[in-house]
Amino acid sequence: MARDARYDILFEPVRIGPVTARNRFYQVPHCDGMGYRRPQAEAVSREVKAEGGWAVICTQECEIHPSGDVTPAIEARLWDDRDIPALALMTEAVHRHGSLAGIELVHNGPSCANRYSREVPLGPSHQPAGRWDPVQARAMDLADIRAYRQWHRAAARRAKAAGFDIVYVYAGHDLSLAMHFLQRRRNTRGDEYGGSLENRARLLREVIEDTKEEVGDTCAVAVRIAVDELLGSDGITSEGEGRDVIAMMAELPDLWDVNVSDWDNDSLTSRFGPEGGQEPFTAFVKTITTKPVVGVGRFTSPDTMVSQIKRGILDMIGAARPSIADPFLPRKIEEGRLDDIRECIGCNICVTGDRFSAPIRCTQNPTMGEEWRKGWHPEIIPGKTADESVLIAGAGPAGLECARGLGERGYQVHLAEAGTELGGRVVLESRLPGLSAWIRVRDYRLQQLNKMTNVQIYRDSRLTPEHVREFGAAHVVIATGGTWRRDGVGRANWQAVPGLETPKVFTPDDIMAGARPEGPIVIYDDDHYYMGGVLAEKLRAEGREVALATPAHSASAWTDYTLELAHIQKRLLEAGVTIIPNRRLVALREDHAELACVYTGARSQIACAALVTVTARLPNDDLYRALIAKGEDLKGAGIESVTAIGDALAPSTIAAAVYAGHRHARALGAEATGGVAFKREFPG
Ligand code: ADP
Ligand code: SF4
Repeated sequence: MARDARYDILFEPVRIGPVTARNRFYQVPHCDGMGYRRPQAEAVSREVKAEGGWAVICTQECEIHPSGDVTPAIEARLWDDRDIPALALMTEAVHRHGSLAGIELVHNGPSCANRYSREVPLGPSHQPAGRWDPVQARAMDLADIRAYRQWHRAAARRAKAAGFDIVYVYAGHDLSLAMHFLQRRRNTRGDEYGGSLENRARLLREVIEDTKEEVGDTCAVAVRIAVDELLGSDGITSEGEGRDVIAMMAELPDLWDVNVSDWDNDSLTSRFGPEGGQEPFTAFVKTITTKPVVGVGRFTSPDTMVSQIKRGILDMIGAARPSIADPFLPRKIEEGRLDDIRECIGCNICVTGDRFSAPIRCTQNPTMGEEWRKGWHPEIIPGKTADESVLIAGAGPAGLECARGLGERGYQVHLAEAGTELGGRVVLESRLPGLSAWIRVRDYRLQQLNKMTNVQIYRDSRLTPEHVREFGAAHVVIATGGTWRRDGVGRANWQAVPGLETPKVFTPDDIMAGARPEGPIVIYDDDHYYMGGVLAEKLRAEGREVALATPAHSASAWTDYTLELAHIQKRLLEAGVTIIPNRRLVALREDHAELACVYTGARSQIACAALVTVTARLPNDDLYRALIAKGEDLKGAGIESVTAIGDALAPSTIAAAVYAGHRHARALGAEATGGVAFKREFPG
């Protein structure tokens, strides 16, 4: 299919200093939990995006010196020449597809605690270092500043030697020395690097000049800078110093890569901000520079992208998450295959990889992070190994993805769903406040399934063991999901909580099915991801008095890893939800819930007309169990395998369900590997 002429503008080349990007699609720096420790996996993961049409592919942060060591995060590293070969793997891979490779050189100053190198952290002034580390950074003297500039120069030379085309000076995310020197709150120096904005910006200017001098003949020098920290007068603002500093250096770098800070504002989830949400902050940049400007905004719609270019907001469409969810996004637009785009849902499961120092994963793209170690390509799946049919029970994320993968492989697929609507939990959850984009998990898969003539979908078809046996498909996949518990059992309570066998107790399933309890409502959240907080938000918006009690230190504590924790607390508190942390549910009484402090055991009571238990789920595995209990009957019916996947096996995230569906689709009929199911990297 030919591309729509409306999108031609997205495929114009863009000159960036001495290099040229073949189109306007720019994968901005993003971490992936592979970095220096898993360089082969890193290289292939980035390569797939170059193959998918991104004209620029950047690394994640690249440490330039042991005094800026971001352990436990696993990013890129260029401490000395021995780090070059690992990064050269990536540049070679990216170049194979005609794309440019960019590297984000970073010294994280007081934002890192040097847990590996054990060097004393450095900063513009004395200040606490790291996140919560009981460690301080020391104020750099002029010799330190000179040394830092030399480290940056040396790293730029190594980056060039590794084959990079674009070398970054980083001043983003409240994370790098060039930014720390800019910030009034962090920089209290009295010398030529402190005081006036010109002085505070001196280091940034010098490092840009150094980098240009060092590698600017063949490499473009990009600056990534946070133009607004969303801290009002306490920070850099796009109306104040953010604007002024760019005006001061408007023509100095070859490219401006602009965003807001810190990371949880930059990578805002869809629950807290729309596509293109940074425009009000970054739009000014293009009015004061002639250099190309790249910015991000979870762009997945080609029309929005075109509008950004035509209205003069951006020159290049920056993306981290949309390139993770769909490494082939540019190619699909180019080939006029818009309905094949796998849109990012803005959930930030990808971010959790970095937070845990584990390889990145993605809710929408189950192949992310598996490109090298499992050989999974996002757009290619090997054909079937036999002319067989597969019956799948349940069209949630797991069943849909399994059907999609098996359909692609050429199997005869029969997908039976008990309900009228397809999508399982994402249908219900996408109706909760802020989660509407999650329906893309279903929409992408349904769009694909509708094109496949070898996939039959049956709605309103709750399968029984008899149905399955009568159907007689060679393979049966049980993807029947899970159900929230109503007995209070979770992480803090291993036994059923007394008093919960009453109609006053509701589960998330009840609320999503339309139950509307009267207040005062207590939500007992021992799950710690989004559900407890989102139900509190919903019920409060419906006018109920709501308290959220949790054994954790905050509401939705796990969302620290998805960058949502602070946003959630703010939203709940401003809505008038009472958050009661560090409390375990002990019992439900006539008109109150009894809680116990998780540290002291001290009891307290809270008025409660309705209790919503958000604790844990159980698999809906009746069908699975009934089938495997009668193995002989199965053989007689011609059924070779019955497999439970996703929540029906063990309830987990939507990302895990999609992954399970994909994994099974690839595994069917494939040789079992035995041992470890993926390649590993060993120190060379
Ligand atoms: P997962 O996240 O593992 O995909 P979901 O709970 O989202 O699980 O989806 C499970 C789907 O399975 C739901 O849409 C549910 O209606 C459907 N389902 C449950 N039991 C049956 C059954 N016996 N036959 C067909 N569909 C079923
Ligand atoms: Fe988007 Fe979620 Fe995938 Fe991240 S994990 S790229 S936010 S869909």
